[in-house]
Amino acid sequence: MYLEPYVRRTMTSAEAAAHYFTKAARIMDVGERIETLLATPVREVKVQVSIELDNGEIRTFEGYRVQHDNSRGPMKGGLRYHPSVNNDEILGLASLMTWKTAIVNLPFGGAKGGIRVDPTTLSVKELERLTRKFVDQIHDLIGPTRDIPGPDMSTNPQVMAWVMDQYSRYHGHSPAVVTGKPLELYGSRGRETATARGLLYICREILRDVQLPMKGTRFAIQGFGNVGSHTARLFHEDGGLIVAVCDVHGGVHNPRGLDVPGLFEHVKKTGSVKGFGGGNSVTCDEVLAADCDVLVPAAIGGSIDRRTAATVRARIVLEGANGPSTPEADEELEKRDILVVPDILANAGGVTVSYFEWVQNLQHVSWEEERVNNELQRVMKEAYEKVSQISRSRRLPLRTSAYVLAIGRVGKATVLRGI
Ligand code: NAD
Repeated sequence: MYLEPYVRRTMTSAEAAAHYFTKAARIMDVGERIETLLATPVREVKVQVSIELDNGEIRTFEGYRVQHDNSRGPMKGGLRYHPSVNNDEILGLASLMTWKTAIVNLPFGGAKGGIRVDPTTLSVKELERLTRKFVDQIHDLIGPTRDIPGPDMSTNPQVMAWVMDQYSRYHGHSPAVVTGKPLELYGSRGRETATARGLLYICREILRDVQLPMKGTRFAIQGFGNVGSHTARLFHEDGGLIVAVCDVHGGVHNPRGLDVPGLFEHVKKTGSVKGFGGGNSVTCDEVLAADCDVLVPAAIGGSIDRRTAATVRARIVLEGANGPSTPEADEELEKRDILVVPDILANAGGVTVSYFEWVQNLQHVSWEEERVNNELQRVMKEAYEKVSQISRSRRLPLRTSAYVLAIGRVGKATVLRGI
């Protein structure tokens, strides 16, 4: 499979990920043999997960785990529960994990998994049965030295606790099989906020480079789940103005800055940012097009496409979500001189603290939050410096530079191990 770059139609998630990879691999001139090797996943698994619903009905859901690359260590990647999950999406996301773990220099490869389900339609007991049954089907493929799942869209510490418990029934007590666990069950301090905190550390570096102070810089955020909500809070606490936010139900905009603690109270009561009184009601498309300095897509893949890219008014797009910009959008943003900070660098804080959690589990120790955050800051700053140095010296966009760094590291490990 020798992949053709620059396909002129809307690409699937896997094609989009392959496109960015191929573009950088050709610039590096890695050659057809290595390019094909690095693009090919180790294993793609699809399982049928049948459970009994609370009403006695039997329902079957499709579950996926794609293991993309293990040349740098055990594979690592989240588990998402979403109605859009399919093999193509999971394959694209698994490859992003390979490059992401390499950029932050963790001793991990890349994987991703998920179940095609709308979790809001299931009870807690049904979700537990679904999770345990999925682990029954893949427990032989995962493990602390093989493949370590973690949280992603619509999965949380409770889901991770069920994964750990079910896996441990087969293999003995194994906290290091999964990350993002509750603190009471071998989770790490700081994991819940790690992705947003990583975004903050990267954002501070970027703002310094473009000579904008954090104080008063205006942010618009799409998505108000784990990544989006903590980003709103941490950026607000750091002096930023959060001017627009949205979630799947709708959004709110206030050019003078939203009252972020008030917004959290509203979300606690209603489950959504929609209807918050401290601003005007807007759609998610209007949030993407908001007059701001930094746009943070932190919801779903592909939300910035050719159409929405043309409406972006921010100077900087900080990718909190995985794959939020399609390649067509990426080209459009570059043409318009909008600085894109790519997902594989910007949101790597989550997997970095997942790595810290794995290390703590293997050593049977527990770190203080201050240590987690300091180490995270060090890792994110170092990754940013390496990527921005490639960007400056080779005159490449940050995304291509990040891929160049990652492909170099993964490629060297692959060759050194022997093909
Ligand atoms: P989450 O399930 O906690 O939150 C998702 C948010 O997106 C919710 O507010 C939801 O309402 C909103 N959303 C869903 N569909 C939407 C739509 N069509 N339009 C607008 N908003 C929509 O998920 P999360 O963990 O915050 O993950 C968000 C993104 O960040 C995903 O792309 C995920 O892969 C990525 N990511 C997450 C982590 C992590 O540690 N959780 C780490 C790295 C990357």
